[in-house]
Formats: sequence, structure tokens, C-alpha cells
Amino acid sequence: MFSGSLKNYFVRINRFFHEITAHHYDGSVSCVLGCRVCDTENHVHLKNGEEALCVCCGHRLMRIESDPYRLPVLYSLVALLLILPVTLNFFLGMHMPGAAAYLTLPAMMYSLLFRDYGFLANTMFFFVFSTPLIFLGLLLYVYGALWTQTDRPFLITATHWLFRLKSWLMVDIFAVASLVALVKIRAVSSVDFGLAFFLLPVLALLLARISLSLSPPWIYRRVARIRQVRVQTQANGENHHTCMYCSFRQPEHLTHCMACHRRLSPRRPHSLQLSLAFLVAAIVFYLPSNILPIMITENPTAVIVSRILDGVFTLWNQGDHFIAVIIFTASVAIPFFKIVGMIVLLWAARFKHPFSIPFLSHLYRIIEIIGRWSMIDVFVIIMLMATFATPVARVTPGAAVIYFTAVVLLMMLSAYFFDVRLLWEQHDKSNN
Ligand SMILES: [Zn+2]
Ligand SMILES: [Zn+2]
Repeated sequence: MFSGSLKNYFVRINRFFHEITAHHYDGSVSCVLGCRVCDTENHVHLKNGEEALCVCCGHRLMRIESDPYRLPVLYSLVALLLILPVTLNFFLGMHMPGAAAYLTLPAMMYSLLFRDYGFLANTMFFFVFSTPLIFLGLLLYVYGALWTQTDRPFLITATHWLFRLKSWLMVDIFAVASLVALVKIRAVSSVDFGLAFFLLPVLALLLARISLSLSPPWIYRRVARIRQVRVQTQANGENHHTCMYCSFRQPEHLTHCMACHRRLSPRRPHSLQLSLAFLVAAIVFYLPSNILPIMITENPTAVIVSRILDGVFTLWNQGDHFIAVIIFTASVAIPFFKIVGMIVLLWAARFKHPFSIPFLSHLYRIIEIIGRWSMIDVFVIIMLMATFATPVARVTPGAAVIYFTAVVLLMMLSAYFFDVRLLWEQHDKSNN
């Protein structure tokens, strides 16, 4: 009796796996999409494994995975499973005369909390643990609904948050930061590596691959289909707006997008004002972030107070040229480049300018992509602090860490609120 029901159970599992592996899932789409960069209307006909670029500016409009449901779900399940060993296993250890530390990633956060650096502990928790976990949970929820073709509560809201969190995943940056921190730790002590140290880059790569497979227009169209919402995509004489979230062309008279339910507006409301406000705040914090000490290193014979540039020079003089270049690029060059770049973009969106549109579009894309990478230095300091927390060797953060983190986050917000279509609008105005 028992063996009979067990056999039935296995037969059912076998049938389920056969069904999900043998079935060919078609993700093909034919629709009209607006480009979120130049606002051009594009007719898109895509099959599995294809992508569509804007005919006017070359921006990637939509991408469909070769196996549109199974691949993202499979990657997400593996990533979720990996989070467990990455969290529980020993990450990094150091030992030197009179001091030793063997740390897991949660132990690092605990060490920061214990020493009253809640801001840094929260930064690490938010970007390295909670954001990836919620992101993967939302992805499985949304793709579960898409795969089984069933509507679920809060499906649209879950989809919005999936795309919002995508830009705030920083596991890859933390993985690179751990290599930089390793060079610094090795200079003064012996280092041991744990399993978590090797699994973290794998998790980072998986999350990057998952992010690549998420194409908002495709997912919103599938969500609209299972919710049986007919999305108006063909022009019928009336002017159409491009929804900036799902890229669907929507008739001008609508206040909310039929596909994603977000508020429709020809341009992001108060785009220039918000972008400028965040930029000005970032510029205000940029100066103290470079002038004030970012890290204080103590040992029984010396106390070394260092600013961002001091750290770069020290690494360079020690012969770690490659790491010095990484820290200089992430902490000095990128924030400066982003501030100058955003000033150029805001100027070009408002006034007559000598720049070409392809140049400005590329500038915006670069600013959007590289923004997060400045967090490397903050994560390096977090790791050094957690590792060196003994009277023999102690690392504490300087006030500049808070200003520097604020600069990075404010610049990300400034780029987020900038509506790139305003550049094309100003360009058309100037040429008429
Ligand atoms: Zn375009
Ligand atoms: Zn929409």
C-alpha cells in the first residue's frame, strides 16, 4: 500500500519533470513599442532568442530568452540555493601575531552593529542580502504566474518592484570589493578563504545573467495577456505616448497605462527639477567625501588617518598598481565623471548645445550603468573594519564614508529621474 502510493508519487514527479522539460514554450511577440530613449515608434516581431533594437537610436527595446520561462526560473532557483552556503559558510579569515578573525558575512554585519556602525551594517544588509532575496522571490512569483498563465494577487505591483530592485543589486560590486580588500588584508596578515568567498562571485554572475533576461516590455505584455487586458498598440489617428515603464504606445487621452497601470505622461513629471536637486545634493556632499578622512587604521605603534586619495597613493607605492587603479576609478574618477556628465545632460535638455544626440544618449547610458560601481570603496571599508577589530589592529571608518555613500546614491537617483527623451525634444526645438 505504502510502496504503491510512493510509486505513484514518483510517477507524478517524473511526469511533471517530463512536461516542463519536453514542452517548447513560445515567447514570441508582435507589437508596436515606443523607444524610451528617442520616443520613436517601432514595429517589433520577435521569436525566442531574439532581440529588437530601436531603428532610430539603436537602444535595446525588447529581448526574449531562448527559453523564456524556464531559464530565468532555473537561474533564480540556483541563486536562491546559493545564498544559503554564501551566508552560512566561513567567508574570510586573517591571522597575525596577537590577532585573528574568522568571519561569515552575517558575522561581518554583526561586528559593524556591535561597534555602533549601524549605517554601514544596514548598507551591507540592504544591498547584499535583502535586495537580492526580495528580487529573487519576486521573480519566482512573477514568472510562476507567467509560466502557469494564471493571474495572481498584486502581480502588477510585484512586477514593478522586480524592475525597481534590479538596479539596486550590488552582489557583483561586493564580490569585486572583497578582492580589493583581500589585497589590503594580505599586506599585513595571513589570509584563509572560506567556501563563501568562492561562491559569492558565482552568485554575482548568476544575478547579472538573471538581470539580463528581464525585459520590461516582454514581461508587461505577458502579464497583460494573462490578465486578459487588451493593450492598444496600433495607432488609430490619435496621438500616442510611450509609457516609460513598459514602453507600450498608449493613446493620449488615457491617464494610466493599460499594460502596467502606471501614470502616463509624455515625459517623466518634474524630471529636470528632481534630477537637478539630487545632482546639487551630490555635489554638496562630494567635497567633504574627498577632504575628510575615510578610514582610520590603528595598531599599537601608529594611527593612520587616510582620505580616499591617500589610500590610492599608498596602494600605488606598495606596488598594487592594478588595485590602485580600480579604487581610483571607482572612488574618484567615476563620481567626478558622473557629476560632470549629469551637468552636461541637464544643460543639453534645457538649452541650446553643441553636442550630438548619439553622444548624449551614450553618455546617459554610461552614467546609468557605472553608477553603482562607486560603492566598491564603501564595501572594502566594511570588510576591513569587520576583519580588523582588535586592539592590535583596528580599522574604523571616517566621516567621509557617509558623505561618499550619499554621493553614490544621490547620483544614482539623479540619473534615474532624468528623462532622456527631453534631449531629443530640445534637439528638435533647436533644429526648427
Ligand atoms: Zn530610440
Ligand atoms: Zn506602461
